[in-house]
Amino acid sequence: MSAPLVNLRGLTVSYAGSLLPALAGIDLDIGRGETLAVIGESGSGKSTLALALAGLLPDDATVAGRIDWPGFEHQPRPGRDIGFVFQDPGASLNPVRRVGAQVAEVARAHLGLSRHAARGHALDLFRRVRLPEPEAAFRAFPHQLSGGQRQRVAIAAAIAAGPKLLIADEPTSALDTIVQARIVALLSELVAEAGMTLVFITHDIALASGFAGRVGVLDRGRLVEAGPIAAVLAAPRDAYTRMLLSCHIGLDTPPLVGARAAS
Ligand code: ADP
Ligand code: MG
Repeated sequence: MSAPLVNLRGLTVSYAGSLLPALAGIDLDIGRGETLAVIGESGSGKSTLALALAGLLPDDATVAGRIDWPGFEHQPRPGRDIGFVFQDPGASLNPVRRVGAQVAEVARAHLGLSRHAARGHALDLFRRVRLPEPEAAFRAFPHQLSGGQRQRVAIAAAIAAGPKLLIADEPTSALDTIVQARIVALLSELVAEAGMTLVFITHDIALASGFAGRVGVLDRGRLVEAGPIAAVLAAPRDAYTRMLLSCHIGLDTPPLVGARAAS
C-alpha cells in the first residue's frame, strides 16, 4: 500500500438506542491515491463507516477508537478536504436552484473565489464530469436532468474544492446498469487524474472489482476481510465474503446451463 492517508484503529460507532454497535473495532489503513471498495449487505455499517470518515455522523452516534490522518497536516474538513457523493443525488441538490449556481457556491465557500471565478470553475467541473452541453446543464434545475446527469453534478460539487479523499456511498445504486458503468468509469478517471483517494461503497462486488485496488468486507459492523481485490475475489478467506461472492455469481452466471442443454 502507498503512504497512508488515514488509519482507523478500533473504530467503534454506536447509535443511541441500538443494542449492537453499527461498527465494531474497525482496524483499517487507507493509502494515498488508492481506490478502496467497501462491500457488505444492507445494514452492515457501510454508510456509518463513510460518514465517520467524512466527519458527518449524526449527533446520536457515539464514537470510540481512533481515526488518524497522517495524510493531512490538520483535521480534514468535510466538503473541502473530503468530498462526499451520496446514493441519491437529489439529497445533495436543492430542487429549486439551478445546478450551476449550486456547484459555483461550493467553490466560493471553500476556495474563496469571486462570483465570476467560481462560475468559471463550476463550468470547468461540468466539463470534467462530462456533462453533455455543460453550458445548458449549468442553467438547468435538478429535475430537468437525468438521474445520471444529476449524479455527475453531485460529483462535480463533491470535487469542487479539490479534496484529497472522495467518498462515494453507493453512488450508482439508484441508476440503471449502463449509467452505473459510466459513472464508475468517470469516478476512476477523475481520481486517476487528480491523484485522489477513493472510498467506493457498494453492495455490488462485481461493480467494484473492475476498478478498486483493495476491498474491505463488512459484516454486521465488523471488518471480516480486507486485501487486494483480485486476491479476495480469487480466494476469499472469510465465509461471509464467500457467501457474498456466490450471490453475485448466482446473479451473473446463466443458470442451469446443463438443464438448458438437456431441454
Ligand atoms: P449500510 O450502509 O451498510 O446499509 P448503515 O451504516 O446505514 O449500513 O447502518 C448500520 C446499522 O446502524 C444498521 O443496523 C442501521 O439500522 C443502524 N443505523 C444507521 N443509521 C442510524 C441512525 N442514524 N440511528 C440509529 N441507527 C442507525
Ligand atoms: Mg448505506
